[in-house]
Amino acid sequence: MCFGRAAAFLFGFVVLYSSRGRENIKASEKNRSKKTLKSSGNGVCRSNFAGNTDVIIVGAGVAGSALAYALAKDGWRVQVIERDLTEPDRIVGELLHAGGCIKLAELGLEDCLDGIDSQIVLSFAAVHKDGRRTAISYPSNACGRSFHHGRFIQKLREKAASLPNVKLDQGTVTSLVEENGSIKGVLYKTKAGQELAASASLTIVCDSCFSNLRRNLCNPKIEVPSYFVGLVLENYNLPSANRAYFILKDSIVVTYPISSNEIRCFVDVPGSKQPPISNGEMASYLKTVVAPQMPPELYNAFMCAIDKGNIRTMPNRIMPASPSPTPGAFMIGDSLNMPHAVTGGGMTVGLSDVVLLRDLLRPLNDLSNAAAICKYLESFYNLRKPTAFAMNALASTLHTVFSSSDQDPSRMEMKEAFFNYLSLGGVFSEGLMALLSGLNPDPLSLVFHCFAMLAYAVGRLLLPFPTPKRMCIAAKLILAGSGIIFPILKAEGIRATFFPATVLAYYRTPPVQSTDDRETGK
Ligand SMILES: Cc1cc2nc3c(=O)[nH]c(=O)nc-3n(C[C@H](O)[C@H](O)[C@H](O)COP(=O)(O)OP(=O)(O)OC[C@H]3O[C@@H](n4cnc5c(N)ncnc54)[C@H](O)[C@@H]3O)c2cc1C
Repeated sequence: MCFGRAAAFLFGFVVLYSSRGRENIKASEKNRSKKTLKSSGNGVCRSNFAGNTDVIIVGAGVAGSALAYALAKDGWRVQVIERDLTEPDRIVGELLHAGGCIKLAELGLEDCLDGIDSQIVLSFAAVHKDGRRTAISYPSNACGRSFHHGRFIQKLREKAASLPNVKLDQGTVTSLVEENGSIKGVLYKTKAGQELAASASLTIVCDSCFSNLRRNLCNPKIEVPSYFVGLVLENYNLPSANRAYFILKDSIVVTYPISSNEIRCFVDVPGSKQPPISNGEMASYLKTVVAPQMPPELYNAFMCAIDKGNIRTMPNRIMPASPSPTPGAFMIGDSLNMPHAVTGGGMTVGLSDVVLLRDLLRPLNDLSNAAAICKYLESFYNLRKPTAFAMNALASTLHTVFSSSDQDPSRMEMKEAFFNYLSLGGVFSEGLMALLSGLNPDPLSLVFHCFAMLAYAVGRLLLPFPTPKRMCIAAKLILAGSGIIFPILKAEGIRATFFPATVLAYYRTPPVQSTDDRETGK
C-alpha cells in the first residue's frame, strides 16, 4: 500500500516535470522563430551621440555587447568602454547552449552567429570509463551553436556599434566615481595613457571573471576548484559532426567543434596546481594520463595537438551572485556570477540576465533617481535566481561528482548511477539536458533529478539483496550526495531560489516617473 503510494507520487512527479519542461521548451521555440533585424553596422560608432549618457557599460564581452545593443534598441543612450576592441583570442565561451541561443534571438542578436563558421550542436555523447556511450540530445530538436569566441564577440560589438545611440570607446576603466554614496560614472585610461572621466545615470559593470571593479559591488568570494587545459584538434575529419563529447573517465574531457575543421578540447585538471606547460610536464601529463582515455576517433588528433604545443589553460572559477546593491551601479555577466565551465553555461546565464535587465528597465523613461532605481532593480536578483541556481548548481554538482577519486566506493557508485540514469533516456536524460542547456532552468527540476539519481543509485546497491557492506556504501552515498547538493543550495539561498515570491524585493514596481524624455531608438 505504502509502496504503491510512493510509486504513484514518483510517477506523478515525473509526469509533472516532463510536461512543465515541454511547455517551457515550446514557449522558447516560439520566441526563437521571431525575425530579427539585420545588422547594418560596420563597428564604427556614430557621431550623433549628443546629450547625456544614460548608461555606461564597462566591458564589451558577451554580456556587455549584448546589453549595449538591447538597451540602445530600447532608446537608452549607451557608452561602452572596452579595454581592447581587437578580436579577442581566448579559450572561453565557445559553446552556446540551446537556451542561450534562444536568449540571443530574444535580443535580436541571432544573426551574430552567421558568417563566423559557427557549428550546430545537436547532441552530446557521454563516454563512460569502460567505453560505453550514451547519446543525449537537446530536447524538442533544439540545438546549440559553437564557434570561435573572438569572432562571435566581434559580431556582437559590431551589432551594438551599428546603433546611433551606442558609443563604443576603447579604454581601461580604472575606478568607479562615487559621490554621496552613489556611483556617478567611471574613470578610464585610453591606450595612449590619457585619463578620462565618463558619467551616466547608471553604470553597468560587465568586466569579466577578472573584474577589478566587483569588490565595490559584491562579495567577491571566488573558488577555483580546477583548471581547464585547452587544445585545438585541427584539420580533423569530424567523427560525428554536430556532436559534443563529455568524456567522463578518470579525467573530465569536453570536446565540441568550433569551426568546420577544428575541435575544442578541454581537459579538467582538478585542484589549484597544474603541471607546468613550460618544462613539458603538462604535455607529458596529457599524453600519459589523458590520451589513453580519449575515444579512438579523437586519439590521433589529440596527440598531434599536444605535439603542436599550443596548450593553454584557464582557471575554472565559481562565484554565486552576492551583490551589495549600490545606487548608480549594477553588475551582470561573469563579474556578478560564474558557474563552473564544465557545462558551458556561463554565456547562457549572462544572456538570460541581459534579457531580464532590459525588460526591467523597459517601463522606465529616466534613470536619474539612482536610489529609487537601485531599490527597483533589487528584484533582478530574485527574478534571476531560479535560472542562475539551476545552471550553477548543475555545473558544480557534475564537476564535484566526476572529479572525485574512484578510491571512495560511494563516489564511484554515484558516477555509475549518473551514467546509467542518462542511459534511461526519456524524461530522465531529456530533463537533465533541458536543465544543462538552459531550456528549462527550473530549480525544482534539478532537485528532482538529483534525488531521483540518488534513489536510483541506492536502488542499484540494495536490490535484489542488500548486504551489510552494500548498505554501508548506500548510507555513505546518501551522505556524500547530500554533502554535495546542500552546500550549493545554501550558497545560492534556499528561500530566494525556491520561494522567490516570498522575498519582498520580488514585487518591486517601477518608480513613478514624470516625463518621457527618452529618445527612442526603436
Ligand atoms: C575555460 C572556460 C571555458 C568556458 N566555456 C564556455 C562555453 O563553452 N560556453 C559558455 O556559455 N560559457 C563558457 N565559459 C564562460 C563564459 O566564457 C563567460 O560566462 C562569458 O564570457 C562571460 O561574459 P562577460 O561578458 O561577463 O565577460 P567576458 O566575456 O570575459 O567580457 C569581459 C570584457 O570586459 C573587458 N574588460 C575587463 N576589464 C575591463 C576594464 N577594466 N575596462 C574595460 N574593459 C574591461 C574585457 O576586455 C572583456 O572584453 C567558459 C569559461 C571558462 C573559464
